[in-house]
Amino acid sequence: MKKTTALLAALLLASAGMTAVQAHAAETGKEEQVITRVGTRPSAVGSHATFTGNVRHAPLFSPNEAAPYSVSYVTFEPGARSAWHEHPAGQTLVVISGVGLTGTSDGKVVEIRAGDVVRCPPNVRHWHGAAPHVAMTHMALTGVKDGKNVTWMEEVSDQQYNAK
Ligand code: MN
Repeated sequence: MKKTTALLAALLLASAGMTAVQAHAAETGKEEQVITRVGTRPSAVGSHATFTGNVRHAPLFSPNEAAPYSVSYVTFEPGARSAWHEHPAGQTLVVISGVGLTGTSDGKVVEIRAGDVVRCPPNVRHWHGAAPHVAMTHMALTGVKDGKNVTWMEEVSDQQYNAK
């Protein structure tokens, strides 16, 4: 009898538009792991309004209550870089492959390599991209404040990019 009730409840939840995972959680009070399969969130080309050169952006997940930041892979071809920008809630970059550069408004340009982790505090003007002759992919963990995660500014000139 109890089993039948649980089954009916699950069916009702399912018919109310809940996923199997949500229905299971509602039925048992336990949440299950959720696996988002590779390739199910399409990547996109970085806009030339905010990037110089060729850049591809692959979102991994959007902010949620437990993890209030977006996570994505960003791949820069050699010489490609972001425009100048700030993040209202900061950003952490994990360099996954290749060699890159990151610059700050004091004119400093620093080389970053696979395995390096860059922490950018909130509202610090900066840019990041690939080294001149090597591509670079980083994972970007970007915080959100008042629904906003970035403020874009002007492009990084060749002189600023080559200041290292
Ligand atoms: Mn940034």
